[in-house]
Amino acid sequence: MLSEPVKRAFRYRFYPTEAQAAELSRTFGCVRKVYNLALQARSEAWALRGERVGYEATSALLTAWKRTEELAFLAEVSAVPLQQALRHLQTAFGHFWARRARFPRFKSRKKSRASAEYTRSAFRWLDGTLTLAKMAEPLDIRWSRPLPEGATPSTVTVSRDSAGRWFVSLLCEDPSVTPLPATDAVVGIDVGLDHLLVLSTGEKIGNPRHERRDRTALAKAQRTLCRKQKGSNNRNKARVKVARVHARIADRRTDYLHKITTRLVRETQTLVIEDLAVSNMVGNHRLARAINDAGWRQFRQFLEYKASWHGRNVIAIDRWFPSSKLCSACGALAAEMPLHLRTWTCGCGASHDRDVNAARNILAAGLAVTVCGAGVRPQRNPPGGQSATKQKTPRREP
Ligand SMILES: [Zn+2]
Repeated sequence: MLSEPVKRAFRYRFYPTEAQAAELSRTFGCVRKVYNLALQARSEAWALRGERVGYEATSALLTAWKRTEELAFLAEVSAVPLQQALRHLQTAFGHFWARRARFPRFKSRKKSRASAEYTRSAFRWLDGTLTLAKMAEPLDIRWSRPLPEGATPSTVTVSRDSAGRWFVSLLCEDPSVTPLPATDAVVGIDVGLDHLLVLSTGEKIGNPRHERRDRTALAKAQRTLCRKQKGSNNRNKARVKVARVHARIADRRTDYLHKITTRLVRETQTLVIEDLAVSNMVGNHRLARAINDAGWRQFRQFLEYKASWHGRNVIAIDRWFPSSKLCSACGALAAEMPLHLRTWTCGCGASHDRDVNAARNILAAGLAVTVCGAGVRPQRNPPGGQSATKQKTPRREP
């Protein structure tokens, strides 16, 4: 099978000079401003006049804004990240109209991740050095792993997380990503009560090793933060400390999910998951710990794009499917299945581990879909996610 090389994002830390940090901070501020202004313009047009304002119209607005006195500062940074912000907003509206996501929200200086996206015309790539528009010197990037041989980035995204760390993400073609030989293996995957994931094979995959210790550290840092006086210097330090622990937990979680999804996709031809709405689940305290940090959404995204790289299938079945109550041996439906019940025996004599039984039912439901295409409602995608067949957006893998 000959296909276009897959595009992947490769992310690295970098250390900006003072001038670069200032330029980037200014650019982040302008990106946020433009995004919010355009969102406001589009929302008003829709709410007041029932008009859909598209990307082109917001692009014209941007030109006009730059000419006004109060927004003239927008013209001082590279124009490309601002255009990209308008494109991102367009995508967010696309997801909203397709009912895949909620209405786009305003970006906040405190809560949103600061980032700026540069396309080919706004950076110079020369012998493995990267220089962004409006900058004299190349970025000091720590190349923690090599880019693919001869790769030239087509898009570069710079960001700073809440812990103050700087990252640059390079989108490159990766010819090493190819379909894997087909296999017969199939698997159903469920969110366990005590485990991160439970497979229909009976395997239970736990949480990352450091998770518990990190949580303790987080609770401690948060308690310290609460005791500091508002607006004080010490409070700011405590806030950065909390952000660092959060960042560490998220990084480890991401690494872990990459390892699991890579393994699952390598081993299995068809993977069946439940179409969980994470927001519903997080309301349930017992399940919250197992899947918090948007872990499930991330898991599903990783699984879907890796499956599309390697010629595998991911099937998401309806989230109201009674997977826990159904006997996977005889198909009888138990009346009740309280959360504390970890093992149970069906009238048919089959004894079940609650989670493994659920994973088996998920697998059976998924395979039924592939055979007859019925019995399960159409797949709905989580906000920001895309189905395996439509997956075009490259993602990163450490
Ligand atoms: Zn039974």
